[in-house]
Amino acid sequence: MFGTTSFEGLVQFSPAFKPRPGISHVLFDFDGTLSLIRQGWPEVMVPMFAEVIPALPGETEAQRRQLAFEDIMRLNGKQTIYQMIQLADRVRERGGTPREPLWYKHEYLRRLETKIQHRTEGLRTGRLRPDDLLVYRTRPLLEELQRRGLHLYLASGTDEVFVKQEADLLDLTRHFGPHIYGAVDDYKKFSKKMVIDRILREHAIPGEQLLSFGDGYVEIQNTKEVGGLAVAVASDEANNGSGQMDEWKRQRLLGVGADVVIPDFRDALPLLSLILQTAPSPQNPHRLPAVSLLESVGHPKAEHHEPEPRTTGSFPTPGAPARSAAEPDHAG
Ligand SMILES: [Mg+2]
Repeated sequence: MFGTTSFEGLVQFSPAFKPRPGISHVLFDFDGTLSLIRQGWPEVMVPMFAEVIPALPGETEAQRRQLAFEDIMRLNGKQTIYQMIQLADRVRERGGTPREPLWYKHEYLRRLETKIQHRTEGLRTGRLRPDDLLVYRTRPLLEELQRRGLHLYLASGTDEVFVKQEADLLDLTRHFGPHIYGAVDDYKKFSKKMVIDRILREHAIPGEQLLSFGDGYVEIQNTKEVGGLAVAVASDEANNGSGQMDEWKRQRLLGVGADVVIPDFRDALPLLSLILQTAPSPQNPHRLPAVSLLESVGHPKAEHHEPEPRTTGSFPTPGAPARSAAEPDHAG
């Protein structure tokens, strides 16, 4: 179907996938897609929600956590404040009196900070290298995109001030320049949809020329809404480099229309060549002789009817041992 592209690891295509040689602009999500600085954030947010939401009679903590998890992940990719608005709504619908969503957001950030400060500190002191806290093989992809002259954008639901600091610590600013966007206090003044609309408007390009990479609902959905090509990064954040897809992300992101799903960027260069319909660049000759026909999988709209994933490549990948996310003591 797609000729001679060969992949090292797992790459899953939706039936709708088609190459897009006209791609000119590329949008990345930040947390979970590129950055692992905030890895483990759901392990802070979920228990906080379960603690704050009043229990229904007979409801277990585990059930409340499940409810919280679904709420949180459905909004993943939007600004954090939307998750906190949802929390306040849950408290209210159960007869409680919620605090302001902004109060919850500050409390969440306070708790998260204690979990991630050793990472930002590690980057500042040089104990950790930037690439230790980037999703596996991010850097070669960004370099290749720049080499090809594509325009790169970064948009995050995390507060812009943190995104910019963390992008600096991860040595990402040189790839994105001024095109780094995040949440602002007046939360109605920023959204990923706004960033996308602005890219299309300012450059007078159709949505078909947009390629996005993300691990959250929102960026995948927004990209598909304008007719762009969406690559879901079902990153296994706690075991960076494992080559395994996060199953929850894989299913949900295919469900909102992702064209391709990858676990990390190990196959990003041959994938990019396939999308852009170009030969691999000479410095990245990705084993062209090996032939593997890509196969599509069904769109898992109804989860219980979902076919088994059929993917190309081999796993585990020889010679690419799993790297953990730079510290042994992460909470899962
Ligand atoms: Mg994300």
